Amino acid sequence: MKTDGDTICAISTPQGEGGIGIIRISGNNALSILKKIFKTKGNKKGFSSHRLYLGYIIDPKKKKVIDEVFAVFMAGPKTYTREDVVEIYSHAGYAVQKGILSCVIESGARIAEPGEFTKRAFLNGRIDLLQAESVLDIIKSETDAELETAVNQLKGLLSQKLNRIKENIKDALVDIETQIDFSDEDIFVEQKEVLKRLKNVKKDLDIIIESYYEGRAIKSGFNVLILGRTNVGKSSLLNALVMEDKAIVTPIPGTTRDIIEDIIHIKGVKMKLLDTAGIRKPQSIVEDLGIERARQKIEEADIILWILDGSTEYIDEDEEVYRSIKDKNIIAVINKIDLPERIDKEILKQKKINTVVEISALKNIGLEELKDMVYKNLMGKTKKRQPVLITNLRHKEALIKTRDAITKAMENMINDEPLEFVSFELNDALYHLGLITGETCPEDILNTIFEKFCIGK
Ligand code: GDP
Repeated sequence: MKTDGDTICAISTPQGEGGIGIIRISGNNALSILKKIFKTKGNKKGFSSHRLYLGYIIDPKKKKVIDEVFAVFMAGPKTYTREDVVEIYSHAGYAVQKGILSCVIESGARIAEPGEFTKRAFLNGRIDLLQAESVLDIIKSETDAELETAVNQLKGLLSQKLNRIKENIKDALVDIETQIDFSDEDIFVEQKEVLKRLKNVKKDLDIIIESYYEGRAIKSGFNVLILGRTNVGKSSLLNALVMEDKAIVTPIPGTTRDIIEDIIHIKGVKMKLLDTAGIRKPQSIVEDLGIERARQKIEEADIILWILDGSTEYIDEDEEVYRSIKDKNIIAVINKIDLPERIDKEILKQKKINTVVEISALKNIGLEELKDMVYKNLMGKTKKRQPVLITNLRHKEALIKTRDAITKAMENMINDEPLEFVSFELNDALYHLGLITGETCPEDILNTIFEKFCIGK
């Protein structure tokens, strides 16, 4: 697939009112379009590349000034798409931008598809598929950690790592194929060397695949489940943590019927908070549904905040909740410490739960300590931060298939199978690796990747 040679255009900034809005044009006609619709203030002829000019956009048909703008022409290949690119910095407003865009289209461009600028950068070889995908991750980043991971990917750190792995597999393949071709002759390939090389490749792949847990955590956040019997203060805690009244707080048991979700950030890490209807005997179908989902959420939770009411005794319903989560990663949260204490904390000691924190959701006591504890618990589990992480399931699956093929190639060698088998597996490994960087990526996969972008990127 190559670019179709059309000149494309789009509004590249969010639509709405604002100080500046940018219209981007890319393709062979970019400069001729600019010349048709833009007059510099000093009526200069000709544009130097990568220089900003102040002037007016004039509708070529109506001869009417639409806006005073800055415009820049950037000659390919030193551009985002490697094609000729023009950018027009106008005021941001619906009529202005629509007016300029119409002039651009009438002068010979068509509206870009979502992600088409970035797709062209990829197809023209300026960036690989991994880097193209990181552009989307940068745009969508909500936390510093997410952004850092995406920027590292854009800088090509992951691509470099994968390329080194690819080179090693290729070298092994050359050795194996040489031996196949010249098996009768006196060319001796040290199979031990090839095996050693593949072993290292497998080790490198293991490390990258493992980084997915941390990568995923940074990108999608951890699931933090708030669980406890009715009326212990789950909704109050959720509210206190997100500081907005999303859950309805009420003293009547069983009114938080479904699962309520909210996102908070603790030290830049995304935490998805889930408040459930609690685990207890259902009294209505609605509650039943809530409870079924709660059970499922227990399975998906990275950590469970088990809420207890410090102002009441520990009762059977607390024990019932505990039984459903006892093998999980738990922090015991004793709530309502603003009231006289009636809970017997010895019970927690007997259960060997030593991550206990005392809070008052109502009076905002102990919340910072709770957040600290959650952070340490979750981030302590991930290994030391790696500079390069994978965050994308597509990448992880392709890497696992690469590793499977390498493992099979090694087994074939160890079992003295025909070298053609080894060669087949190594080619398969290269194919799967190529799916990540885009070298062997089929067009339909490419299209689904770029469809996720918005127009103008
Ligand atoms: P849930 O059923 O576990 O979600 O509990 P709610 O959050 O609805 O709280 C039940 C009742 O306990 C409400 O009346 C809250 O105002 C009250 N409550 C929650 N947290 C505290 C607290 O820290 N101190 C006191 N005194 N009351 C609280």
